[in-house]
Amino acid sequence: MKQEKTIDLLAKKANISKHILKCDKCNNESIISLEYGPHNFCKNHFNKFFKARFKKTIRKYSLFKSKEKLLIAVSGGKDSILALNLLHEFYSKSNPMQVLIVDEGVNGYRNNAIKLTIDTCKKFKIKCNVISFREKFNITNDELMPILLNNPKLGGTCAFCGTIRRNIMNSFAKEINADKIVTGHNLDDEVQSFVMNVFNNEIDRIIKSSVQQKKVKNISFVKRIKPLYETPEKEIIAYCEFNKIKHYSQDGCPYSWTAKRNEYRKMLNQFEIKFPGTGHSILRFNENLNKILKNNENEINIFNKKIKECKICDEPTQKEFCKTCEMIQKIKNEKTKLEKIV
Ligand code: SF4
Ligand SMILES: [Zn+2]
Ligand SMILES: [Zn+2]
Repeated sequence: MKQEKTIDLLAKKANISKHILKCDKCNNESIISLEYGPHNFCKNHFNKFFKARFKKTIRKYSLFKSKEKLLIAVSGGKDSILALNLLHEFYSKSNPMQVLIVDEGVNGYRNNAIKLTIDTCKKFKIKCNVISFREKFNITNDELMPILLNNPKLGGTCAFCGTIRRNIMNSFAKEINADKIVTGHNLDDEVQSFVMNVFNNEIDRIIKSSVQQKKVKNISFVKRIKPLYETPEKEIIAYCEFNKIKHYSQDGCPYSWTAKRNEYRKMLNQFEIKFPGTGHSILRFNENLNKILKNNENEINIFNKKIKECKICDEPTQKEFCKTCEMIQKIKNEKTKLEKIV
């Protein structure tokens, strides 16, 4: 239902009924209007446009080469399931690939997504690996939540969850000798992250992302790539709907309300409605800034010099312990404090 509304919105945003629009490429009726182009497409030409952009992003940014081993991080949501579908469609003959799905330990939430991912992998004959927070760090999101709610200064569940997930992705990629980790991040995710970094004065994060794209020599990092980086979220929803790609809704996580990102999403969506193309414009600004940072050898050297291995888990860090181990230690301390009070 939500998806139908989004597709309808895409058609109505042009203020013209979708029924009287013709496809830009043929005489058929258009079923989708992309205002930033503007483009009007029938299903066939929308699919062609969508797939061509996916392949162009991979070529333009040289995201991976033929024969490189890819670890596709899948959550079961629309973005990562779509990345898996398209990578399988276009690159399964040229690149070995495996899938990783992380189980964060949210009762009743992740199980359906895991099942869907395993089924999709079986269909594509791709190896699917499931790793849980419990087996790796002996903790679950369900255990984290009450502790974090008790002391909001520790941070939100999503921040913890994301950090632990990235740690697991990186260490597993090294275990299977993957050359690249593929994530399903789309244009909206990228723009939200960049604006969040600006609003929070997180210049280090912006430098870090530009340095990682350039290639960090330290072998502890496996490069993360995002082939859907130039694809707006609404078009991903539309593509999955038109092509009946089964996925699991991310809205199901009971802790999603804790994400600060939701506020940025709302704000940026409002801007996109009023000023179509805002997302693309912020994305290009981020790229231009990255180019300047990449040419700044000084910043890169400072960043690379600071990288060492975490004393607990061997993952890369600029301090003695990585962020994941630091966070888990804080949680353990808080838990002990609470147990003493009880
Ligand atoms: S919504 Fe937040 S807590 Fe839930 S899986 Fe996503 S990042 Fe983790
Ligand atoms: Zn057409
Ligand atoms: Zn660590």
